[in-house]
Amino acid sequence: MDNLFGTINSIIGSPYWMVALYIFTFCVGVLWLALVFWTFKDARKRIDDPIIIGVSVLTSLVLPFMGTLVYAILRPAEYLDEVRERDLEMRSMEQELQSLRACPSCGEVVRPDFVACPTCRRQLRMACPNCDRVLEPNWKLCPYCGQDVKVKRVPPPFDEPTELLTTGR
Ligand SMILES: [Zn+2]
Ligand SMILES: [Zn+2]
Repeated sequence: MDNLFGTINSIIGSPYWMVALYIFTFCVGVLWLALVFWTFKDARKRIDDPIIIGVSVLTSLVLPFMGTLVYAILRPAEYLDEVRERDLEMRSMEQELQSLRACPSCGEVVRPDFVACPTCRRQLRMACPNCDRVLEPNWKLCPYCGQDVKVKRVPPPFDEPTELLTTGR
C-alpha cells in the first residue's frame, strides 16, 4: 500500500504530470471557446433577435459545455433561410391560386391564360389570329405582334361583362 501511494505521489509531484495537466487544461479551454464560437455562429443562422443571440452566447460562455448543451436543446429547429424560403413559396402559391378563376358556365377552375374552358368548351377569350397569343377582352390590338383586332359583341367571357375580340377584317 505504501508503495502504491509513493508511486502516485511521485507521479503527481513530477514535472511531467504538471505539463500534462497544463496541456489538458489548455485543450479543455480551447474546446470551451470553440463551443462558444459555434453557439454564436449557429444562433446567428437560426435567431433573428440580437438580444437572444447575445443571451445564448453568454450562457455558453458562463456555463462551459452545459450552456452550449442547453442552447443546442432549446435552439429553433429551422434556419432563418429555410423559414424565409418557405414564406416565399407560400406567397407564390397564394398568388397562383388567386390568379385562377372559375368558368362562368360550369364553375370549373380555369387559368387566366385559357382561351376556352376545357371542361364545357365555352369560349373565354380570343387568341390573336396572327401570333396566337391570348388577348385581354378590352384590347384593341395585339400588343405582341401589332395585329389590329376589332371588338365584336359576343357572349361575355368571364365574370365581367366584356366583349370578345375578333379580327378587324
Ligand atoms: Zn366551363
Ligand atoms: Zn398577335
